[in-house]
Amino acid sequence: TNEDPMPQADNEVRVAGIRISNPDRRIYERPAVTKREVAEHYEALGPRMLPFLRDRPVSLVRCPDGAAGECFFQKHRTRGMPSAIRTVKVETKSGPEDYITLPDVPALVGAAQMGALEFHIWGSRNRRLKRPDRMVFDLDPDEGLDFARVREAAAELRVRLDDLGLPAVPMLSGGKGVHVIVPLKPAAEWESVKFFTRALSTLLAEEAPDRYTAAMAKAGRKGRIFIDWLRNDRGSTAVAPYSLRARPGATVATPITWDELARARSAGDWTIRSIRERLEGPCPLSEARPVTLGRTVIGRLERLVTQSK
Ligand code: ATP
Ligand code: MN
Ligand code: MN
Repeated sequence: TNEDPMPQADNEVRVAGIRISNPDRRIYERPAVTKREVAEHYEALGPRMLPFLRDRPVSLVRCPDGAAGECFFQKHRTRGMPSAIRTVKVETKSGPEDYITLPDVPALVGAAQMGALEFHIWGSRNRRLKRPDRMVFDLDPDEGLDFARVREAAAELRVRLDDLGLPAVPMLSGGKGVHVIVPLKPAAEWESVKFFTRALSTLLAEEAPDRYTAAMAKAGRKGRIFIDWLRNDRGSTAVAPYSLRARPGATVATPITWDELARARSAGDWTIRSIRERLEGPCPLSEARPVTLGRTVIGRLERLVTQSK
């Protein structure tokens, strides 16, 4: 009626208090998913996502023409973005820059309003950008490689990390691979985490060169899994837990248990629809206790590397 205190155009809805324009616009074809449903995904998953996402620099993947259209990474705040989207000062080669950071659910939904589908996070927090609080091994299978090979690689990496005193949690990327994540206490600096992940990835690749490579060059990947340790650097990102992916099927990056990984069929097992049922159980990643990457752990790895020579 005319007395409505908050008049809304017919083509507008509010999600988490954020105005969503063109809520019925189709973002994914199969399953058919609207912009409103994307916003509602982040409203519903936000509380579970924010412990991993908040207080970090974040890159958005915006897809103005939907998941199948052209998408672009964006790390700077631009004018016209909802005020819920905040910034953090990051020292870069070209001076201090304002990077996007998302403190709460309205910020997440505000990004979705701007056409963001994916959220990618730094490995360190705003207040301690020098000291990462997570280590990530991003397992990238060569085209056409069976997912069983990825499962096996993740399980092998898990054992190696466990032996070194670093418990890890797997996350289905929602794309092709699995991320093996070690929550850290923010003690060691980037150089140490980079050194450690490169050394362990290289060791695995040297032991089983038919299965793994630790080198980025596409040429060396034929029939193998690239253990991408390059996520572990200042300014690098990895997809955030519970982020949607701009890929067919409206898949979701999903932390799972090792038991679940053993039964997983693909990296895209969980979707914008099915993910809701996981809200009834705990998040395997938030249950993991962070550990320190200290001299002892690094020393153990150095001895393994020496023995293998
Ligand atoms: P998949 O399982 O299919 O490999 P993924 O998310 O691991 O999915 P990758 O291509 O391996 O995709 O990329 C790993 C991470 O590197 C991404 O999650 C993203 O954060 C970052 N990344 C990849 N490409 C870019 C890019 N063009 N710009 C910025 N960051 C990128
Ligand atoms: Mn990957
Ligand atoms: Mn990668």
